[in-house]
Amino acid sequence: MFTKPPGGLRLLTVHAHPDDESSKGAATLARYAAEGVDVLVATCTGGERGSVLNPALDRPEVRADLTRIRREEMEAAREILGVRQQFLGFVDSGMPGPDEPLPEGCFAAQPLEVAAAPLVALIREFRPHVVITYDETGGYPHPDHVMTHKVTVEAFEAAADPKRYPGAGEPWQAAKLYYHLALSRAWFQTMHDAMTERGVASEMAELLAGWPDTPPTLATTTRIECADRFAVRDAAMLAHATQVQPGVAFMAHPRDIEREVWPTEDYHLARSFVPGAGVAAGTIGSAGSADAVENDLFAGVRAVDGA
Ligand SMILES: [Zn+2]
Repeated sequence: MFTKPPGGLRLLTVHAHPDDESSKGAATLARYAAEGVDVLVATCTGGERGSVLNPALDRPEVRADLTRIRREEMEAAREILGVRQQFLGFVDSGMPGPDEPLPEGCFAAQPLEVAAAPLVALIREFRPHVVITYDETGGYPHPDHVMTHKVTVEAFEAAADPKRYPGAGEPWQAAKLYYHLALSRAWFQTMHDAMTERGVASEMAELLAGWPDTPPTLATTTRIECADRFAVRDAAMLAHATQVQPGVAFMAHPRDIEREVWPTEDYHLARSFVPGAGVAAGTIGSAGSADAVENDLFAGVRAVDGA
């Protein structure tokens, strides 16, 4: 449990499993934490059904103790990022095959109101100005990621409504809700092209070849400069040692090239209660447009709060 902060800006990011906070938006978290923002990671499940992706650690005693090990890995990553973290207490749904049912009692099999209740209570207690989660696709077709999106949207709205979830704390309206645009096709293409132009072997060609080049459905509304935190992001990811597949495409590229050609983490502003901030009509352009209108998740909030 955390102790309530005295004031200032608060950022809540909601993830499905331990390690997701380190692979999507981690440099953003490290940057804001270093600037004094109170950053809290809410992790919906314990990652109990995750595979051991690192062959060096794929041993029976590791698989048998994965719940505890993933908690320790999460704690190490949390420390590296300089943030706070709380588990919401649900059980990983795993990645069922096409005709397989969800395991009984898992996170994705919960009724929405049950699954969202701990997050409603957390939002009312922590009182975040900004909340980040996945878009409706989950960003990745894992049932827990899709459920994390649903639960976060539900909790973002319901936490503000005194008639909903009675007994779960005083209502709180977070000012903004963002979706990650991490690990997009555009990012992989840009990295691949930059490596190829510089004569560096790219591992991304195969991935891109199987990825339809359709325009993104969500506009990039916000780009957060955080290249000087990429090393922190990488260290946090490596702390999830059982989850790091050696040579995986998004870990294998040269960091100096990444800092040069894509020095930001990008977001889509999905909801905003900040007057005049963010999504001004006509300034966003088409989905995926480079005309990002924000370079700060707290744009419009700082002025209101005087922070
Ligand atoms: Zn995940």
